[in-house]
Amino acid sequence: MLKNDQLDQWDRDYFFHPSTHLAQHARGDSPNRIVSSGSGVYIEDRDGNKLLDAFAGLYCVNVGYGRQEIADAMAQQARDLAFYHAYVGHGTEASITLAKMILDRAPKNMSKVYFGLGGSDANETNVKLVWYYNNVLGRPDKKKIISRWRGYHGSGLMTGSLTGLEMFHKKFDLPLDRVIHTEAPYYLRRPDPDMSEAAFSEYCAQKLEELIQAEGPDTIAAFIGEPMLGTGGIVPPPEGYWEAIQPILKKYDILLIADEVVTAFGRLGSMFGSEHYGLEPDIIAIAKGLTSAYAPLSGSIVSQKVWDVLERGTDEFGPFGHGWTYSAHPVCAAAGVANLELIDRMALVPNAREVGAYFNAQLKEALADHPNVGEVRGEGLLAAVEFVEDKASRTFFDPSKKVGPAVTSALARHGVVARAMPQGDILGFAPPLCITHAEVDEVVTATKRAVEETLPRI
Ligand code: PLP
Repeated sequence: MLKNDQLDQWDRDYFFHPSTHLAQHARGDSPNRIVSSGSGVYIEDRDGNKLLDAFAGLYCVNVGYGRQEIADAMAQQARDLAFYHAYVGHGTEASITLAKMILDRAPKNMSKVYFGLGGSDANETNVKLVWYYNNVLGRPDKKKIISRWRGYHGSGLMTGSLTGLEMFHKKFDLPLDRVIHTEAPYYLRRPDPDMSEAAFSEYCAQKLEELIQAEGPDTIAAFIGEPMLGTGGIVPPPEGYWEAIQPILKKYDILLIADEVVTAFGRLGSMFGSEHYGLEPDIIAIAKGLTSAYAPLSGSIVSQKVWDVLERGTDEFGPFGHGWTYSAHPVCAAAGVANLELIDRMALVPNAREVGAYFNAQLKEALADHPNVGEVRGEGLLAAVEFVEDKASRTFFDPSKKVGPAVTSALARHGVVARAMPQGDILGFAPPLCITHAEVDEVVTATKRAVEETLPRI
């Protein structure tokens, strides 16, 4: 397939890539990669390079590449019934079964799943659910959503606003009204170097409460957060963070949306990140690991408390006016069913826990003492190495030095794909959950070499 000598030129001439420096790509100033196949944790490009994908695509190919079971389930569904919609009570065996499988795995008190296609649209749905909920409850002013700086919740209009990263706002006229940001739970960047983790968590909670009071509690509808910060830096919450945040949300009757687009279905070594860190969310966003990206599918899992109000709303105001043509697409739902079965059969959640602990320990041992490594951190199969100019004073590199991208490129030359996270010099890892100890060794060895050969040249 695609053995086309002009492919590289066509890529530069015709393909508008997401999250890309458009001018450099079009001019041919930045490298491209045309990926042609994958198996297990490895991908291969059309130039014949085989790379260990230690970011699982975009932390999504959780079961690994080339799983026949999922491909077969999708093909069978496409043959039997490629599409039918889910409006006005229609369903398919795959979509109904998948909803049940998700609820069987979800934290307690969850009631229903609404299906979308990606994490961004799941969070757009979540915001609409929250607004609808408060309108039904007769609280028309309770509409603002609090997100965190460095949170990532998508790149739509509302979700790009929720995202707390500069690149997703700049020149897009975002964030929109009704979205406000609070402190990032990022201990390395704490305001006072002498603060303990627990004291920093208290500080974050205090900042949140001050914000709620300044805006007026009756105007705040929900708080959205990833159980562990992902794209904003791969940062586990500091000790006591969620324990300090949740009582404040309860005190002011603010809903908690857990964005589990990355963490659901095993990434942290627990089925859900909420259970891992003791969150009690009212709504949960899921996507990536739901199908391991074999097909685009997301979900909004709604708690009984929210569902009861939504039901009441339709009794009072008529049918629920929200839906996408492809909500609960049967081929995607079939991929989801096969994927969740495979996660169980391959015992990938315990594997993420066990191999994740090994990965994080090995990475720390290899790199934590390097003079330009400010922190090696992670949980389960999420890990990050953050580079600093000076460790003692926590001085970060000037972004123009592009340390993160330089290490990432060197690592790719050593056969491993990691991700230069978008804000800060942070090398991110999120390998498929099926990664083995030997493959972890391969990643850690290559990373150490890439760091040792890149940093002295900066
Ligand atoms: N939420 C989180 C936590 C994410 O990491 C992402 C994507 O990386 C999204 C939402 C958006 O998902 P999508 O890119 O599928 O729209």
